Amino acid sequence: MALLQISEPGQSLDPHQRRVAVGIDLGTTHSLVAAVRHGIAECLPADDGRVILPSVVRYLDPVQGGAGRQIGFDALAAQVQDPANTVSSVKRLMGRSLAQVVDVDKLSYNVVEQDGMAVVETVAGRKTPMEVSAEILATLRFRAEDSFDDELYGAVITVPAYFDDAQRQATKDAAQLAGIHVLRLINEPTAAAIAYGLDNGSEGIYAIYDLGGGTFDISILRLTKGVFEVMATGGDSALGGDDYDQALAAWALAQQGVSAALNASERAAVHAEARRVKETLSSSSSEMFRSSVAGWHIEQAVSPSDFEACTAALTARTMTAVRKVLRDAGVSKDEVQGVVMVGGSTRMPIIRRTVGAFFEREPLTNLNPDEVVALGAAIQANALAGNSRDGDLLLLDVIPLSLGIETMGGLVERIVPRNSAIPTARAQDFTTYQDGQTALALHVVQGERDLVADCRSLARFELRGIPPMVAGAARIRVTFTVDADGLLSVSAREQGSGVEARVDVKPAYGLSDEQIAAMLQDSFATAQQDIASRALVEARVDADRMIAATRTALAADADLLAPAELQQIDELMASLAAIVGSEDAAAIEAATTALAKGTESFAALRMNRGIQQALSGKKLEEV
Ligand code: ADP
Ligand code: MG
Repeated sequence: MALLQISEPGQSLDPHQRRVAVGIDLGTTHSLVAAVRHGIAECLPADDGRVILPSVVRYLDPVQGGAGRQIGFDALAAQVQDPANTVSSVKRLMGRSLAQVVDVDKLSYNVVEQDGMAVVETVAGRKTPMEVSAEILATLRFRAEDSFDDELYGAVITVPAYFDDAQRQATKDAAQLAGIHVLRLINEPTAAAIAYGLDNGSEGIYAIYDLGGGTFDISILRLTKGVFEVMATGGDSALGGDDYDQALAAWALAQQGVSAALNASERAAVHAEARRVKETLSSSSSEMFRSSVAGWHIEQAVSPSDFEACTAALTARTMTAVRKVLRDAGVSKDEVQGVVMVGGSTRMPIIRRTVGAFFEREPLTNLNPDEVVALGAAIQANALAGNSRDGDLLLLDVIPLSLGIETMGGLVERIVPRNSAIPTARAQDFTTYQDGQTALALHVVQGERDLVADCRSLARFELRGIPPMVAGAARIRVTFTVDADGLLSVSAREQGSGVEARVDVKPAYGLSDEQIAAMLQDSFATAQQDIASRALVEARVDADRMIAATRTALAADADLLAPAELQQIDELMASLAAIVGSEDAAAIEAATTALAKGTESFAALRMNRGIQQALSGKKLEEV
């Protein structure tokens, strides 16, 4: 989804009037909270000084009297000992059914399905992913409130660009459970770009390379006139720092000739050691891998080149995804103006070198890669809370696909064009098609194509109780309103009588950025074909309307016609009716025009009769 930047004429607030607004990076592995203080965004530390909170919650056995849970580092430390009740990587479950969860068998705890939702089974009962995430969010909320000694006004929470509506909604629900007012959800790559101030910089194309603990995301953003648009997203939701740990652990065990099968907690211990070694190697030229498992005592020296060699396949996989996303975006690597590095795993020197060599430019690494997403979210939160000074910038979403309604013949009338900034409201007037029509069916659609059949159906509703009028006399105003969260409501109101109907819909529901991209691509590829089909449909609608109008006129006033005139009109109608089902738009139009011409004098006669009827019995001055 794209973001639009606008200037907000804000007033500078007194320090005591400032609202506490934070940015939260709710990560798969780590979560952070950041805020703007004295004009600078910074991550807020816990009591121990650490800013990172492992996204891990351990549930304790209520029967053992330990009615409670551990969150963060305590929970992480307990994972080896109690993997089944220690929930990590819960972000993978958010807004998903069991079948939709990637690599569910890699998780150390048991996931089951409940009400179409993947939930975790623990000693303390079943926990929804929203409940688990809420524990993490609440911890960060308390941290912020302690740090400011004030209540939290609201938070901007980041989500991956590919998160669909269900996943975004689940994130909002988790925040609500944690008692957090969500100012807005924004995409992680956009937040990273904001942290680097790219939104103030030159227009152009940027790549955001985000290698975290369990996921790799690559996004191509385009900045034009202050609008960030996600051109394409890609990556691998099962590739991250954890895989580097596993590869290193496997290599170290193989070097030592360890062949014994390890149990779950031994595996966890080996991986924890591998992770420590990996992280140390990012700033040191050798490290010892030490572990005692399954009766083996392992001591293996690891050099950076050993590490890089045994993980080379993983690094190569990220670059394959980078090439693919550039292809999807239709962008060559030298069009990319800047590369932003995000995620703790981009501290690995091999990653920086490989990405730098590919793009032939030094990637942006001067901000802490763990913190960059939270920092960008904090800048946003500060602006949304109204704390920013004059001229500060506010980001708004734009609508990714056009919104419109179905008109006669299955055509789409676009009402809100794509890339309109939200919130927005747009109205258009429509009329009835048939005489005496008292109800109107409205069909709300999303997409760039001209035919309803090629667009996505969002909602249907009816406007009833329109007073009977001749076709074309009713004036029905259809208004589309999209609020700041992207929620659409459509209302229809007959202006004369005031009868009204409305419906609320979520336009982005279930559409990933890839699907949006595909729908757009589709609309470009088929624009020519759409013009042809639109012409045909319009010709058919006109023809049907002409035939219907002529039938109505004949039923009322056929007595005005001589038999020969009546026969001529019947013939014109018959030849139009015969051709209206054909694919030949031009022929249909010609036959419609012929019928219109052939009935001109009949129409004049009817008009005279109508005037006479209207005037009869009235005095001249009344007219
Ligand atoms: P997520 O976005 O998935 O929550 P993070 O961005 O916090 O993840 O990244 C966590 C990953 O970063 C872990 O795999 C961790 O081992 C790795 N990491 C952190 N510091 C370093 C470092 N100095 N060198 C290499 N990897 C690191
Ligand atoms: Mg992350």
